[in-house]
Formats: sequence, structure tokens, C-alpha cells
Amino acid sequence: MILTERKKQGVLLLFAGFLFFASSQNAWASLPQKTILILFPYESNTPGFIHFDTSFRSSLTAKTDYYFEFYVECLDLARFPDARYHAKLIDFFHEKYGKLKIDLIVATLRQSLEFFNAYGRSFLPETPVILYEQDRRFLDDRTSMQNVVSLIGHLDMEGTLDLALRLQPDVRNVFVVSGASRHDQSAEAIAREAFRGFENRVRLSYLSGLPMDELIQRVSQLPEHSMLFYLSILQDGNGQTFKSPEALALLSPEANAPIYSVSETYMGSGILGGNLISHSAHGARAAQTALRILAGEKPENVQMPEESGNRYVFDARLLEHWGIDEEKLPPGADVRYRKFSIWNKYRWQIIAVFLILIFQALRISALAISLRKQRRTDLALRNAERKYRTLADFNYDWEYWTAPDGRLLYVSPSCERITGYSSRQFTEDPALFHEIVVPEDRQLWDGHHHDHQTALEFRVIQFRIRTRVGDMRWIEHACIPVIDDRDQFQGFRASNRDITERKKAELEVQLHREELAHIARITTLGELATSLAHEINQPLTAIRCNAEAALRFLSSHSPNLEEVRQILDDIINDDTRAGEVIRRIRTLVKKEHSQHSPVDLNESVRETIALVRNTSVLPGLKIMTELDHELPAVRGDAVQLQQVTLNLLMNAVDAIKRAPAASRKVVVKTTLWDDQTAVVMVRDSGEGIEKDVMERLFEPFYTTKGEGLGMGLSISRSIIKAHGGRIWADNNREGGATFFFTLPLEGRQQP
Ligand code: ADP
Repeated sequence: MILTERKKQGVLLLFAGFLFFASSQNAWASLPQKTILILFPYESNTPGFIHFDTSFRSSLTAKTDYYFEFYVECLDLARFPDARYHAKLIDFFHEKYGKLKIDLIVATLRQSLEFFNAYGRSFLPETPVILYEQDRRFLDDRTSMQNVVSLIGHLDMEGTLDLALRLQPDVRNVFVVSGASRHDQSAEAIAREAFRGFENRVRLSYLSGLPMDELIQRVSQLPEHSMLFYLSILQDGNGQTFKSPEALALLSPEANAPIYSVSETYMGSGILGGNLISHSAHGARAAQTALRILAGEKPENVQMPEESGNRYVFDARLLEHWGIDEEKLPPGADVRYRKFSIWNKYRWQIIAVFLILIFQALRISALAISLRKQRRTDLALRNAERKYRTLADFNYDWEYWTAPDGRLLYVSPSCERITGYSSRQFTEDPALFHEIVVPEDRQLWDGHHHDHQTALEFRVIQFRIRTRVGDMRWIEHACIPVIDDRDQFQGFRASNRDITERKKAELEVQLHREELAHIARITTLGELATSLAHEINQPLTAIRCNAEAALRFLSSHSPNLEEVRQILDDIINDDTRAGEVIRRIRTLVKKEHSQHSPVDLNESVRETIALVRNTSVLPGLKIMTELDHELPAVRGDAVQLQQVTLNLLMNAVDAIKRAPAASRKVVVKTTLWDDQTAVVMVRDSGEGIEKDVMERLFEPFYTTKGEGLGMGLSISRSIIKAHGGRIWADNNREGGATFFFTLPLEGRQQP
């Protein structure tokens, strides 16, 4: 026979199931069996007994030490009290249990034990008995307790009434309700005894053994400030039997006062609550006792600790109906039948969730607000950056921005117009900038770059670059560090301006100035013509005289050659003097571009004076010097500086023309102005300078002289300015004027 795969699995499962069943059967079979007979004096389905029985059995079967066999007999003694029924019943039990081995009898309530004592001992003489009774006060001394362990509860009538009066302090009448059965009457008797202590606090009335109709009517018309105390009704005044909770359920809807009681079995049938006996708790205790007896302990040795097992239990619906505040209940009270309300059950969770939601909503709103703010700021920033970038993009100058580490972040497109290289080439090749700087200016550029690292400040430098096509361009580079709100350095913003055209213009201006100065010098030489002619004439005349004298000596008989040699020496000296004058004139006439070199101001002054010295037209003219022989050299163009001194000397000579011959004096002084500057002063003894003339002295073409050009002082000022110095005039206190000009010492030029 061939089995399919699915069939194989089915067979295997069946086999496994069978094995499990067989093994569990075996497990039960291996346990020692114990047989327990449970007796209850009333009809089956009585709630109190069901609670006890269920709890007893489930507690026992939870133990796996034994396999239990339970027999339950509800004797129904309240409905069938006559002896013939009892006799028949016992015959039946004899028949039923005579051949069985009963290990334990559980007699619930005194009546069960008495029944067993009366009829059962004959066929189960040795079987141990557990008696469960609700209250010790139901027992009397006549009941035989031989071979019996008793578990006794407590019907807390006093405690419950006391609590009820605390919950409802305005109650004046307490109506105690009980039925007509023997048990009901016993309960009433216990209550009367228990409530004796309350007689001075409230009026106690006993509604006992009344027919149900009448009872219902009574409880519906109770006076104000009343309460009911329900004990038990197994039978009413008309002989009608009830299960006690059922009787209560008939009364409670009609009652016009709250009902208190002492048993948990009445919960839900109309009692407000009380300190209630729990049959379930006693069922579990009975199970513990049973295990000890089944384990071999003698009943008389088993002492179970007295525990009432009672609990405060209340009906929430009735508490609310009668307006009783839950706060007044004893601590730990069990409140049942609450109206199911999500709010009641999960109040704190709901509040917590609600608070969390509010908190989250607030956080989300705060986040949303800050996000909006952030977005606005971002937008404003982007707009600002776009504007700035647009400006930079269209700026004629070549801009670039760096990050704090020197990386190029942005290079404006103008770089291509100026250098021939695109902005991309600059950002991709960080060395390109350095490379296009001409080699002569690289040191300047690198120094500037290095200074970036040490000092964050605004700087401007000028240097030259070589463009992509090989042109040279002058660049004026200005850069400024960017510092943010938190004083953090964010890089540099730099601007490079093409100043080639400006540089060219400056050069042209310089050339023009030089040309003008040259013309002015030629003019001055023209003015000096007489003096210069005299200066040259003097040595020439001396040479001629000496030459004639030499000839005369030579034509004599015995010429004195020594004399001739001296004469020739004089001739050479005079020639040198004349040659020197011509050299000076040539220097001034020569048209050369400005050349800067160290200049000895004293020497310059001496040479200038030599040119002017023979302006003998002015009788009595004395040109004196006060030279500082320690004066360091200055740097500049020797010819131009000499021209300045010459102009000032010529003006001084002009100024003293009208002075009396005896007081015609010009003093040229050189000295240090401060430790970085030299000064030249030309003081005359003329008439001084009028106030309005003083204001216009250095203006081009300003002259007060009929034959004057008015360019001397203007040219002198531009020469001194180009040398980094200053020129000005002042009237002397003793009369006449003094002109000053300063020059930076060699090596101390201003940047
Ligand atoms: P010019 O000598 O051709 O007039 P300058 O520019 O040299 O041109 O001088 C301008 C004017 O300054 C002179 O005309 C004169 O009025 C005045 N000035 C110059 N030097 C002196 C001086 N030492 N004393 C008085 N006035 C002077």
C-alpha cells in the first residue's frame, strides 16, 4: 500500500495523539485515589454552597498528589424535614456508599454533621469529617465532634452594623429581616444577641418569620432614617421555601432603605454591602485541612488557625443610589459593579495621555514656530546672499570669498576679464593665484598671505600679475576678515581691482612733473646766467693771466721753471673750478628720469650755494650755512632736491633785494626734525610774506613778481611730496621769512 506524503503526516499525528493520551491516562492511574463525600443540608444550587464547593474542589485538584473522586449529596432537609424521608435517604446512601472506601467527609453546616452523626456513622464509622460552619454561634454542645475537624467562620453582624451606622450616621431605625426556618431563627437569635449593644444608639425591629407578601410590603414602607439588615430566609411565614439570595432579590427592589448583610453570597442580589463572610475562602481552607487529614494526620490533632476570611465588599450602584461617599468606606474595601466608564477605569491614564498630547501639541507648535522663523531667516539669508552674490557677480572688480581654512568658496566672474582665467580655474587650482603674481612682487604677496594667519585685519596691497595672454596688470588687493555674531572667524572677503590704467596715469603725471621741473630748472639757470658767467669768467680770466705770465717767464733768459710749474698748477686748478661750474650746470640742464639714491643734504646745500654765490648784483649779500654734520643721508633724486633748495635760495635772494645792503643775509640750515626726518630751512632777512600771499604761496602760477613764473614753489611742493616729505613757510619774528622742507631719512621712508 502506497501512502501519500499528506496521509503519512496524518498517521503520524494520530499516533502522537494516542501516545499523549495513553501517557496522561497512565499518569492519573499511577496517583493514589482519594474519595471524598461532601454533604450539604439544603437543596442543590444554593449559591453559598456552590462557592464553597467550587473553591474546595479546585483547590484540591490543583494538587497532583492524588487522584480525587468527589461525591456530593444535597440533603434538602429544609423542604423535607420528616424522619421517613431521612430513613429512606440513609438507605439510599447505604446502598450507594456501603461498598465504597470513603476517605473523607466534608459536612457543610451543623445540620449536615448532625445528619451524618445520626445516620452515617453506622456504615462509615472511621471516616474523618471536616465540618464547615459559618459561625460558632450556630453550634451547640450536643453536636458530637468525635473524629471531626471544625472550620468555623464568623458572621460579623456587630461589625457590619457598626460600619453601616458610620456610613449613615442619621439612621435611627434598623429592621432585621429573617425567615421562619430553623436556620433563619438561629440567625435571628444570634443577631438579637449581637445587636444588644446597639439598642441605645438605634431602634431595632425584627421582621422575622413574616409571609413574603407582607414582608415586601413592610420593607417598602419603612419610616425615614431606616436601614435593613438581612440575615437569611430559607422559609417564609407561609411555609414557602426559598434559597436565601432569591428571597433577598424579591425584597430588595421594593425596599425604601438600604440593605446590609453579612454574606458574600448576597452580593448582587440587593445588599449595599458589609463585612462579608466568603464561602470561597473557607472552601480553600477546607481543602488545606483535607490534604493534612488525607496525609494521615488525626482530626483531633489538626488545629486550623482561626481566620474569619471576611472582607469589606460593597455594591457601587447602591452606594451611588443611597448617596454614600466611597471615601468613607474602610481602606481596601472591594467595591463591585461599578458602572463601566472608561473615565472611571482609566482616569489617570486618560489625564496622562491628555497631558502628553497637550505637551506634544505645545512642543509641535513651538517647533513649527521656530521652524517658520528658521525658514524666514533662511529665506532672508538666501535673499541677502543672492543679492550680495548678484552684486559680486556683476562687480567690475574681481572678488573672492574664502572659508576659515583658506579654501576658495566663491570667485566672481570678473576674474576672467582681469586675468584671463575663469573662476572655475581659480577654485580648482588653489596655487593659480600665487603663480600669476609677477616674480618681483611674489614676496610682497606671500608676506601678505602669511600675515592673514597672524592678524585678522583689513589690508590693502598693490602688486602686479601676468595675465593668461602675458600682459602685465597692476592689482590693488583689499581684504577684510568676516567675523560672525559669536566672534567666530568665517573667512575672508577679498576684492581685486585692476588699477593698471591708474598706474599709467600716475606715471604720466610723474613724467610731466619731471618735464616741468626740467623747464623750471632751465629757467632758473637763465636767471643765474650772470652769476654763472661770472663764475666761469673768473677762472678763465685767471687762466689767461697765468698763461700770459707763464709765456713771459718762458721767454726770459733763464726761465724759472719752478715758477712756471706753479703757474701751470694754478691754471689746472682754475680749469677744474670752471669745469666744476659747468658740471653743475650740465647736471641741472640734463633731462633725466627721476632716480632715487642716498643724498647727503649738506653736500646738496653746498653745491646749490655755489651756484647762487656770485649773484653779485646784490652787494653785501651773505649766504651762510648752519649744517648739521652728523645728519644722516636721505633718499631721493639729488637733482630734484637740489632744485628745491635752489628755488628757495633764489626766492630768498629776491626777497632781500629791497633790504639795506648791510642786512642782506640768507641762512641755510640742515638738522634733524625728529629721529626719522631731516629738515632744511632757508631763512632770509627780507620783508616777510603777507597773509594773503601766504595762503596762495604754493599755487601754480601764483607770483607777486613782475617777471616771475609762479611755478617755483608749486614744483618744489610736488617734488617734496613725491619724496614723502612736507614743505611750508613761516614769517620770522625779527623780520623776513623761513621756508622749511622735511624728508624721511634713508631707510625710514613712509610706506
Ligand atoms: P616766483 O618766484 O616766480 O614768483 P615762486 O613760486 O617761487 O614763484 O614764488 C611765488 C611767490 O611767493 C613769489 O612771487 C613771492 O611773492 C612769494 N615768495 C616766495 N619766497 C618768498 C620769500 N622768501 N619772501 C617773501 N615772499 C616770497
